[in-house]
Amino acid sequence: MGAVSLVNLGKSYGALQTLKGIDLELEAGELLVLLGPSGCGKSTILNLVAGLQEPTQGEIRIGGRVMNGVHPKDRDIAMVFQSYALYPNLSVARNIGFGLEMRGVGRTEREAAVARVADLLQITPLLDRRPAQLSGGQRQRVAIGRALVRNPAVFLFDEPLSNLDAKLRMETRAEIKRLHQALGKTMIYVTHDQIEAMTLATRIAVVNAGRIEQLAPPEEIYRRPASLFVAGFVGSPGMNLVPGRIVDGRLRPDGGGGDLPLAEVPEGYEGGAVTYGVRPENIALAASTDPAAVTVTVEMVELTGPEKLAHLRMGSQTLLASLPPASLLEVGDTRHVVVDLAEVLLFDGATGLRIDHG
Ligand code: ADP
Ligand code: MG
Repeated sequence: MGAVSLVNLGKSYGALQTLKGIDLELEAGELLVLLGPSGCGKSTILNLVAGLQEPTQGEIRIGGRVMNGVHPKDRDIAMVFQSYALYPNLSVARNIGFGLEMRGVGRTEREAAVARVADLLQITPLLDRRPAQLSGGQRQRVAIGRALVRNPAVFLFDEPLSNLDAKLRMETRAEIKRLHQALGKTMIYVTHDQIEAMTLATRIAVVNAGRIEQLAPPEEIYRRPASLFVAGFVGSPGMNLVPGRIVDGRLRPDGGGGDLPLAEVPEGYEGGAVTYGVRPENIALAASTDPAAVTVTVEMVELTGPEKLAHLRMGSQTLLASLPPASLLEVGDTRHVVVDLAEVLLFDGATGLRIDHG
């Protein structure tokens, strides 16, 4: 129960193809995150699973049953939205139990279910309040409670934390992760926030313009992005991406500056066009005498707290380096840096796909 399959799922509006054949197999108990920029089709996928919209092609199965054409209330799913419309005149307890009430679940059973969910979400003291007497974070918990109380096979979340401030977002994120661990339910979670995706997901599906660009566990998405799009979208600050050509076993950047070292040249790429990718945390200050060092000029330094983010000019390109906060560097300095060669990625200059070499 709870496994979800999407087979060649598509949605068009007239000639406009919003979803272009989505294939996805979710195991029961998985927390799959759909990650992508605004407008890429994440909500559409979720709405199709929920039955709020019908696909123009393909199939949706939940627990092995084909769901196309099945009414949303008969799909055994519950959905939590960004804007959690609570009933303002009802208490928290009745808001949570309202769906059960509508389905004709008896009072005793309903109250027990509401109490169980309130305990799980630690909102028992709030049950008699009205939504107006709650903070934003508490309201979102009630909205989650409303979904939990029905004990569905699959939970769908559409950017549920977007309306919360940064601190509450982090707390509620941890809460959702805890709930997933405690309940072991299948969840599909939509977000454009890559940190949310990284921290919550068992697997991330990166969506780009109506297609799945990569489907993998978070660590693999981060360390082995399949394409330039995924490499650029995941990570904050983002991966440094330097276009150039491979000359004499090194990258010669199109924008000039020094050549960047490579651990090895992938077969067939000597002389070829590639994009060189290195994450800010894999660049370090080095001595000028280091044979692998590249010369840069310090353009700007930002202390974030746990790191110093250095903007380093190399030819017409700026490299971002995440350095220890005590690093001494001044704007205008000429410095030398080395990159961790084991962490360098290369992307094909024509296709943008990562070149897999060992
Ligand atoms: P996301 O949730 O990733 O931000 P959506 O799934 O909401 O994206 O939308 C995907 C695309 O579908 C968008 O480009 C949007 O403009 C388009 N779209 C959504 N609804 C309609 C509609 N009723 N008519 C035409 N285009 C639509
Ligand atoms: Mg959306």
